[in-house]
Amino acid sequence: MSAWFSPDSIDDALALIERHPDARLIAGGTDLLVRRRSEMSDIPLISLERVAALQGIEEVREDGMLAIGAATRIAELAVSPLLAANAPLLQRAALSFGAPAIRNMASVGGNLCTASPAGDCLPPLHALGAQVELIARAGRRRLPISDFIVGPGRTSLAPGEIVTRVLLPSRDRFAWQAYEKIGRRQSLAISVVSFAALLRLDDEQRIAEAHLAWGSVGPTVVTAPELANWLLGKPLDQSLIDVAAERARAAVCPIDDLRAGADYRRALAGNLLRRFLRRVQHG
Ligand SMILES: Cc1cc2nc3c(=O)[nH]c(=O)nc-3n(C[C@H](O)[C@H](O)[C@H](O)COP(=O)(O)OP(=O)(O)OC[C@H]3O[C@@H](n4cnc5c(N)ncnc54)[C@H](O)[C@@H]3O)c2cc1C
Repeated sequence: MSAWFSPDSIDDALALIERHPDARLIAGGTDLLVRRRSEMSDIPLISLERVAALQGIEEVREDGMLAIGAATRIAELAVSPLLAANAPLLQRAALSFGAPAIRNMASVGGNLCTASPAGDCLPPLHALGAQVELIARAGRRRLPISDFIVGPGRTSLAPGEIVTRVLLPSRDRFAWQAYEKIGRRQSLAISVVSFAALLRLDDEQRIAEAHLAWGSVGPTVVTAPELANWLLGKPLDQSLIDVAAERARAAVCPIDDLRAGADYRRALAGNLLRRFLRRVQHG
C-alpha cells in the first residue's frame, strides 16, 4: 500500500513534494490509477483533492480572464453558468466526457497533464487560447497551452511543479462556438475525431476571426493556423466551405488505430469543419 498525503494548501503540497521527490500528484485518479495500477504499490501519492485554491471557476477582474482551478471536476465544468456564458464549447466538451461517474472524479488539470491526443478538454482550450499556470518552490509561471503540451503524453511540467489554474481570455465576441466529438458510441467513448471552433463574422458576413482545433488526428491537437488565417476577410459561401474542408483534410495527420483508419479520420476532420461553417452560413 503506498503512502497517501492529503494537503489542504498549495504550500503544504509543495512541501510534501520536496520531502517525497518520488511521489506522484493525484487529482481524480482516473488516468493515474488505471495506467499505473501495477506500478503504484510503492509510490507515495499526494492528493490535490482538498486544496481549495485548486478548485472552482471564477472571473479574474484584473486581466478579464476566466480562471479554472486545476483540480476542478469535469462535472463542475458541465454545469458552470460562467462557462455557459463565456466558453460554451468547453462546456460542450465536458458534457461529452466519459460518463457521469468519470466526470465526477476527473479534473481539468489531470486532462491537461495526461496530454492525450484524444483529451476532450484540449481542442476547446487550444481554440480558446488558454494559458496554463504552474507553481513550484521557485515561483509561478504561465504559458500558452500550445507550449505546455509538447507531445503525446508529454508536457513541459518540470519536476516539483503543480498546475494551479487554466486561464481563458475573454472570448465573448465570438457568436459562434462549437465542440463536436465523434466516437464509436455516445458515452464512455474515446474520440475518433473531435473538433473545436470559435468564429466571428463582420457586418458584411465575412469571416473576421477564426480559431480551429482538432483532436485525435495528430500526436497533439492540430490547430491549422494557416487555414484559420486563410479564412479571414472571405465571404462565407459554398465554394469557401468546400475549399476549407479540403484544406482541413490536408492539415491533419491522423494514424490508423483500433478505433478508426487514418483516411476516415481525415475525411471526418474536413466534414466537421464543413458542418460547422454551414451552420454559421445559415445563421
Ligand atoms: C472509463 C474512463 C473514461 C474516460 N473518458 C474520457 C473521455 O471521454 N475524455 C477524456 O478526455 N478523457 C477520458 N478519460 C481519461 C481521464 O478521465 C481524463 O484524462 C481526466 O481528465 C484525468 O483527470 P484526473 O483528475 O483523473 O487525473 P489523474 O489521474 O489524477 O492524474 C493524471 C496525471 O496528471 C497529473 N496531475 C493531475 N493533476 C495535476 C496538477 N494539478 N498538477 C500537476 N500534475 C497533475 C498526475 O500526476 C497524473 O500524472 C477516461 C478515463 C476512464 C477511466
